[in-house]
Amino acid sequence: MDIKELFTFDDVLLVPRVSRVSSRKDVDTSSNLTPEIRLSIPIMSSNMDTVTEAVMAIAMAKNGGVGAIHRFSTIEEEAEQVRKVKREQSAVIGRPYSVSPYSTFAEIKKFVDETNITSFPVVDRGKLVGIITKRDFQFEKDEKKLVKDLMTKDVITARVGISIQDAKKILTREKIEKLPLLDSKGKLVGMMTAKDIRIAESYSNASKDKNGRLIVGASVGIGSDYLERTKALIEAEADFIVVDVANGYLQKTADAVRSIKKTFNVQVIAGNVATKEGVENLKRAGADSIKVGIGPGGACLTRTVAGVGYPQLSAIIECSKSGIPIIADGGITKSADFAKAMAGCADIVMIGSLIAGTDESPGSIVTKSNSNYKFYRGMASVNAFASKALKLDEDVDIGGYTPEGTEMLIPYKGSAIKIINNLVGGLRSAMTYLGAANIEEFRKNARFVKLTEAGKRESKYL
Ligand code: IMP
Repeated sequence: MDIKELFTFDDVLLVPRVSRVSSRKDVDTSSNLTPEIRLSIPIMSSNMDTVTEAVMAIAMAKNGGVGAIHRFSTIEEEAEQVRKVKREQSAVIGRPYSVSPYSTFAEIKKFVDETNITSFPVVDRGKLVGIITKRDFQFEKDEKKLVKDLMTKDVITARVGISIQDAKKILTREKIEKLPLLDSKGKLVGMMTAKDIRIAESYSNASKDKNGRLIVGASVGIGSDYLERTKALIEAEADFIVVDVANGYLQKTADAVRSIKKTFNVQVIAGNVATKEGVENLKRAGADSIKVGIGPGGACLTRTVAGVGYPQLSAIIECSKSGIPIIADGGITKSADFAKAMAGCADIVMIGSLIAGTDESPGSIVTKSNSNYKFYRGMASVNAFASKALKLDEDVDIGGYTPEGTEMLIPYKGSAIKIINNLVGGLRSAMTYLGAANIEEFRKNARFVKLTEAGKRESKYL
């Protein structure tokens, strides 16, 4: 039997080349997530419940990457996370939350707590009758008071389709922050806010859809509810669907991809696989991009439990040869790994543990021996399995479950964006060393050399 020699990131180095690129700033890091979605920085946050919910997805998309919401929640909860992202940063809020004039202040307060939104158009039988903002209720004590007695009644509105420039003029002239948008019949169809306009203008690299809203993906599994879940996520306006299965070689994974592609008009990322055979199988089923990685993840136990896997850099190189975008998923622990993954022809890199334990990752900070931590867990860990079963009211045999994921406390790291910026800085540096002005040139110019043990020590990899 032949046994191949395969490599992962720390086994190799990239070789520098004579370069005409004069500065890290001159390189273009944009790359395709799917044939239809291009990102200015090729990074996606993992669809894990300790990594990506709306807050992380918003931060990623604002900074040019993207997030995929995890599926370890009810369909409605996952769809709500998607809606939160789509509402976040757009000069125009498409379907603003509205309230009735007969709602109580107590109901408004609860809504504010749940959504973090502090201003609502007031709609009565389809007609806009007022607007209620934090300013109207900030000192209110009477919880029984009705919205109609708190709201501002003279609302300045504009017709939907108004340009950002014209909206800015009205907001400035009238000294207001919110501008409800009406259609020709006077029905409320959107809202512009000064804050959203400011934010929309300040993130020039943000990943946006054709309506200027942040791009976000959401995940489904291959259990019985995947079509229903996909439908809800598309209705919530997810930009792409991730068919998220640890073992993308299961024929059920390809079947799920096929039936989602047949039923809906949506970009589908499928995985995980680690070889050309796996890529081709999912490509034939209609996947638009493939997630590559069996076993490299920071919380992954597949290699110790099943003895199955494929060293990640070799997996990326092999899988990139099928003419379909690939997402290198797992095992990125430093910017050098990211640079090598991209040089090995990944189109996008997916990261989990590196940005777990940040302000943007779900979960609260835990303090232990005077240090701060956050939980990170593999989605195939016992705890993740048990809490999914609890959430979805599934009957499961926890004792009979063999986990392929572990859980850990990760030191609290502050902002995920700082980490993303460091990763991108490393990639830009590598591109400059290789004389590459863009990702296509980077791949063309990439040559890897294999390290000896001494070479690894010299590189501080050991
Ligand atoms: P990391 O960036 O090295 O932490 O890897 C993150 C990736 O690990 C995720 O995107 C998943 O593909 C993978 N992963 C998540 N949970 C598990 C698990 O329980 N077992 C194996 N792999 C996992």
